[in-house]
Amino acid sequence: MPKYVPVIGMEIHVELKTRSKMFCFCENGYELKEKPNQNICPVCMGHPGMLPVANVQAIDWTIMIGLALNCEIAKFTKFDRKNYFYPDLPKGYQISQYDQPLTFNGRLTIGNKDIDIIRIHLEEDTGNLKHVSDGALVDLSRAGTPLIELVTGPCIDSAKEARDFCQEYQRILRYLEISDADMEKGQMRCEANVSLQEEGKFVIENNEVKPLFDNELNPKAELKNINSFRALERAIEYEIKRQTKALENGEKLVQETRGWDENTQSTFSQRVKETAADYRYFPEPDLPPLIIEDELVANLRATLPELPQAKLKRFVAQYQFDPETASIIIEDKHLAAYAEAVISELVGWLVALPEVEGSEEEIISANGKKLSKLVGNWLTTHLFKHLNESGQKVGDCKITPENFAEFLSLIYTNKVNNLAAQQILEEMFATGKAPTDIMEEKNLAQVDDTEAIEKAVDAVITSNPKAVEDFKAGKEASFKFLVGQVMKETKGKANPASINELLNKKLA
Ligand code: ZN
Ligand code: MN
Repeated sequence: MPKYVPVIGMEIHVELKTRSKMFCFCENGYELKEKPNQNICPVCMGHPGMLPVANVQAIDWTIMIGLALNCEIAKFTKFDRKNYFYPDLPKGYQISQYDQPLTFNGRLTIGNKDIDIIRIHLEEDTGNLKHVSDGALVDLSRAGTPLIELVTGPCIDSAKEARDFCQEYQRILRYLEISDADMEKGQMRCEANVSLQEEGKFVIENNEVKPLFDNELNPKAELKNINSFRALERAIEYEIKRQTKALENGEKLVQETRGWDENTQSTFSQRVKETAADYRYFPEPDLPPLIIEDELVANLRATLPELPQAKLKRFVAQYQFDPETASIIIEDKHLAAYAEAVISELVGWLVALPEVEGSEEEIISANGKKLSKLVGNWLTTHLFKHLNESGQKVGDCKITPENFAEFLSLIYTNKVNNLAAQQILEEMFATGKAPTDIMEEKNLAQVDDTEAIEKAVDAVITSNPKAVEDFKAGKEASFKFLVGQVMKETKGKANPASINELLNKKLA
């Protein structure tokens, strides 16, 4: 049986969140209004005699994403007309870029592999069609929204790799704040070209799949209308299985467009391509070509933020976060900034505390693992829980990094135990009050006074003879039960380590 290799390339369209549309002064239809056709004008409706004007912000942002993905930036570029007829395209053509894209020849590292980026060009979005029982409704609010199209080489060889690439691309777009790239809202649309080729009978050269000797390539399927990363991964997995099986059974595959059916978790044929569509591209006569000055590129490069992969590496190296926690924190650049502010404040607090010794650097290097664990745990587990439950983002959170750091310092120095800390955090989240004030008001400071804990331990031992007996007979669970009873006796404020120590001593 011959071995078949998946050959996958991606085409990704992303809407830019500029204030105005690509070629007119209409408000960008990025966030669609409740009523249809609310932001349209004679230019984006293609009325005769109207002249387009290119959106400078969209051009700058396309250069930015090109730079972030290690692309070359064209010194000379132009817009072209892509002619086709469809009801959501009022002009009868889309202004796009054909043979001279704004950015090209880039790469993005996924795992240990560079994914080639053939090009990223700038174009305009179409309107939306809504199919109803007796026809279709057209909403042209979105027509003319700036759209960037990224095309990768056919170098992706698994569904997981395709998904990882798309997710990293989304992260970068969000870091640059040029698009929210929400797939469910159609702001990011991922299409995958999937074919299976027989091992040893093809090569990938200059981003093209070429047959070796007189072999014929197997046709590809274009997977479209996918609205989540999970669906993308599953659709590609399904296609790989479907095509492999067909080839092994000697069936002939056809080049076609396939959709994803969420209900049956399978792809289905939408359109069979007999010949390549002829869009009769020609240069847009109403827009002058663009000369991109080196100075503009240098200025834009200087405004690039630290990108997610670099931030991840730095969080692991600088703060000793474990990679899993770091990747959760860097997912959102505002959360990452919040975490950094908390760490910096926390170290400041620790330096100032009489019981913690050493300089700032000494404290970080000696306690880095413990600090990052503390920060990571309370951010990604506890704060996230409150944010999710209330539907807030870290930017809306009432807890300042200063207060969050003060809160962590209470835990770090054993002034409160875990249980009390959760209560304090809940109150901080609701009111934005300072943690020490809450601790004092609610009398939540940890009881570390051995005498008080010993009293409680004695009382619990006397009143629970059965559990004591069970523990002595080797039942570990009884010990946990006794610890719980002492904790209850001290109203949840005792230092658990002290309880353990005292109980162990008394029961030995
Ligand atoms: Zn308009
Ligand atoms: Mn396109």
